Amino acid sequence: MQPPSDHRRNRPYPRNVNGRPHKHAWPGEYTYCPHCRAELVAADLGGRTRMRCPECGFVHWRNPGVGAAVVVFDDIRRILLVKRAVGATRPGLWSIPAGFVDYGEEIRAAAARELLEETGLVAEVGGVVWVASNFHDPAKLTVGIWFQGTVTGGVLEAGDDAEEAAFFSLDDLPPMAFETDVAYLQSLGAGIDGVGDG
Ligand SMILES: [Zn+2]
Repeated sequence: MQPPSDHRRNRPYPRNVNGRPHKHAWPGEYTYCPHCRAELVAADLGGRTRMRCPECGFVHWRNPGVGAAVVVFDDIRRILLVKRAVGATRPGLWSIPAGFVDYGEEIRAAAARELLEETGLVAEVGGVVWVASNFHDPAKLTVGIWFQGTVTGGVLEAGDDAEEAAFFSLDDLPPMAFETDVAYLQSLGAGIDGVGDG
């Protein structure tokens, strides 16, 4: 999915999950001040609408979260993917193993942790192979960083928010969850047109 044009132009996000117009410009913005509990008001700051507290001056500056993914190939150039479990974003579809970097966590440590949790494999996390902004969830935008991974141990077994973990040929990929994974796989020459149907 391409980012809706409204996001880039900072127009009100057209609909919330119930189909009604959303209260804020971006889903997930605070309604009340997290410091003093006053109701926030929209303010034009630097040409863009921000939610600001009229009592204490708090401004809800929002930044994307950071996701770390690990690209692992086996010795016949199949790529390791996970099937997303119920409760994960886009369950039933497949993705490159990845997860959020925790606050205070070093990014390669986060990448290795997510790989271990989702696939049971221990890997040495190497260089960056892909970087992209993810717009699939307007309430939780992220910047994704895909690292090369070299497996050094562990036993392949799905866990955490993955219900399966398996290697796939680039010519025979399962239905994928995320446009940015698809774009990376296409850059490798994979025969895949887009994301699968959730
Ligand atoms: Zn306040």
